[in-house]
Amino acid sequence: MKGYISRIFTSFVDVPDKISIAVYFSGCSIRCKGCQNKEYWNLESGTEMDGDEIFEKIKKSSLAEYVAFLGGEPTDQMDLLIYLCKRIVKEIKKPIAIYTGREFEVLPNELLNNVKLLVCGPYREDLLVKDRWPASLNQRVFIKEGNQWKC
Ligand code: SF4
Repeated sequence: MKGYISRIFTSFVDVPDKISIAVYFSGCSIRCKGCQNKEYWNLESGTEMDGDEIFEKIKKSSLAEYVAFLGGEPTDQMDLLIYLCKRIVKEIKKPIAIYTGREFEVLPNELLNNVKLLVCGPYREDLLVKDRWPASLNQRVFIKEGNQWKC
């Protein structure tokens, strides 16, 4: 399985108070007004990579406490995203965070079942609050505790 990825690197900011391996997907069909990551909007702004190659890069990051998927819009490449999440849960056993411009309610269980932290909703520059995480007031954070989601 192949997909387009812009960047993979160790991050100290993408999951609050955690070190993560951050995987930036390229391509975004949501295209929020005022988006700060426009350079990732086109799918081919990234590099085509095999799912196994991406997984091996994630696996090598011994420092990371979390795996974070961002972009761009990770859920635009849903099959690849689910494939990676399933392998991470089964083989690496690290918690997964996803930033998506889509709402929690439209995401498939096959994805949600494998994720610990979700930041959901499109960026709205009219609802921007300086220094807030996430950036705009409409965006929601979901954390899984046991089998229950808390928002
Ligand atoms: S979903 Fe994310 S990457 Fe896509 S336009 Fe909105 S803020 Fe930008």
